[in-house]
Amino acid sequence: MDNIVVRRVIVVGSGCAGLTAAIYLARAGLEPLVIEGNLPGGQLTQTSTVENYPGFPDGIGGYELVESMRRQGERFGAEFVGDQIEALSLQGEQKVLQGKEKTYHCQALLIATGSAPVPLNVPGEKEYAAGGGVSFCATCDGPFYRNKIVAVTGGGDSAAEEALFLAQFCEKVFLVHRRDRLRASKIMAERVLACEKIEPLWNRTVLSVEGDSQRMDALILETVGTGEIFRLPCAALFVSIGHRPNSAFAGEVLELDKGGYFCHKDNNLTNSAVPGIFLAGDCADPLYRQAIIAAGTGARAAIAAERWLLAR
Ligand SMILES: Cc1cc2nc3c(=O)[nH]c(=O)nc-3n(C[C@H](O)[C@H](O)[C@H](O)COP(=O)(O)OP(=O)(O)OC[C@H]3O[C@@H](n4cnc5c(N)ncnc54)[C@H](O)[C@@H]3O)c2cc1C
Repeated sequence: MDNIVVRRVIVVGSGCAGLTAAIYLARAGLEPLVIEGNLPGGQLTQTSTVENYPGFPDGIGGYELVESMRRQGERFGAEFVGDQIEALSLQGEQKVLQGKEKTYHCQALLIATGSAPVPLNVPGEKEYAAGGGVSFCATCDGPFYRNKIVAVTGGGDSAAEEALFLAQFCEKVFLVHRRDRLRASKIMAERVLACEKIEPLWNRTVLSVEGDSQRMDALILETVGTGEIFRLPCAALFVSIGHRPNSAFAGEVLELDKGGYFCHKDNNLTNSAVPGIFLAGDCADPLYRQAIIAAGTGARAAIAAERWLLAR
């Protein structure tokens, strides 16, 4: 029995969505248990400065921001446990979470397991991430490269969007794509091709990222087919080849879309199709993937969970 933990409400995930939910649930007196997963604090712990989270005019460190949220939750009685959930099942109205360490039962479950950007896995990518020029989010980091020459890699709608966003304030944007055309929607592809500041580099793949060990300053590219190699000087690389939502553990119980994101019931942005299971943050958001939005949906899901428990 020691291995079974029973709670009224459990939050899975400790990024800004899960932590915000924990603050709301704890302040409502529901003593939530937060299961932190393999990345306590979530994706923001992997970045240096966050400049677009309201309330911090001089920016704030990603780790510092989530650490403050965690302390805020703890102050009101949220409890944190370092486990990773491997499966979700239902026993009547009980939600059962199978963790690596323990089994958890709850009435209300809030899932905030986030997503992870797909990396290129090339030399230099990790070394220059978190402030060194390699980024997975133009909305987050693009403004650091105002009037600079940058590159985006990818060929879908997200890559097209990133390139168009950066073209508004960067000097030039190279769009590196391994095929000879974009697979983005027609309208997005047309916008990219019409933008004077964007230069597509077709049939090219990124072999490595180079720099002075502090900041990147160039990409080494290879031409598909010919194998020709050349150096592209640029201040930043925005990797936009997809995101993987952390949803597999619940795929037997909850509906996932074709990208693996959790589906909301009736597009209401909070409820899943299972009564008592609520969704928050990037794991159910293929569109925006921003900290403030994840935090906002965490608050929404917590209020929904609280009202659902109250009504029972
Ligand atoms: C490098 C980088 C920089 C960024 N910079 C910015 C920025 O400047 N501004 C901005 O607004 N956004 C930024 N973002 C995006 C922002 O980090 C995300 O939108 C936000 O973190 C999403 O929060 P979340 O809580 O939904 O998920 P996440 O932050 O992804 O957290 C998910 C949590 O779920 C846990 N988890 C996952 N699976 C399991 C499981 N099976 N069992 C238990 N726990 C699990 C993880 O351990 C983690 O704690 C950045 C993202 C990255 C990667």
